[in-house]
Amino acid sequence: MTIDAADLKRMFDTIAVAIEADRDRLCQLDGVIGDADHGIAMALGFNAVRDALAPLDLATIEPTALLNLAAKSFLNAVGASSGPLYATAFMRAAAAVKGKAKLADADVVALFHAMAQGIRDRGKAEPGEKTMVDAWQPAAEAAAVVHAAGKTLSQSLEAALAAAESGAEATKDMIAAKGRSSRLGERSLGHMDPGAASAVTVIRAVRDGLA
Ligand code: ADP
Ligand code: MG
Ligand code: MG
Repeated sequence: MTIDAADLKRMFDTIAVAIEADRDRLCQLDGVIGDADHGIAMALGFNAVRDALAPLDLATIEPTALLNLAAKSFLNAVGASSGPLYATAFMRAAAAVKGKAKLADADVVALFHAMAQGIRDRGKAEPGEKTMVDAWQPAAEAAAVVHAAGKTLSQSLEAALAAAESGAEATKDMIAAKGRSSRLGERSLGHMDPGAASAVTVIRAVRDGLA
């Protein structure tokens, strides 16, 4: 299976719809250990991406240019921490597929890895610090493992989603060490990290959008 710019645009449209539908829950999760704006931030970001991609000529634009435009529009639209984190993720994804008009399964797996690494680098966050990294990192690893075992892209994406779900669930048992919620220390225990929760929604939409 190969993925082109039109598929990526459809994927971003699917993410925007899914995040919009999840917006209130994400704000509620952020309200418990943060400042209650995470759903708003993510919806602003992905709606801006959708608007920026809408006028593109999908017959001529390459995936790398589309992903760089997504990065730029997400960054410009979002003032919260998730803005530069996702913008860096998309920029790294763009760099990972530079020069390719169509993406093979391996490229999509590389794209997940680049996104997870971009978020880690930008946020200086390690796994276990109760952030979106705790969903993205296991998702990227699971996709790579399943792909390396010779499975299809949809099986890799299914594995990525399952790993992200477990990863987000596991943030309940973590003490926040990065971002706004780190101020709570042990009081952050017992609550899911909102960025990890939204990562699950994004990854589910990636699976749905690319399927
Ligand atoms: P803000 O905290 O600025 O309001 P958001 O509410 O949009 O930003 O996003 C909060 C989420 O961002 C957290 O739940 C966490 O997943 C993620 N996050 C915050 N700081 C970092 C960081 N340094 N590294 C990785 N992820 C982070
Ligand atoms: Mg917030
Ligand atoms: Mg905020």
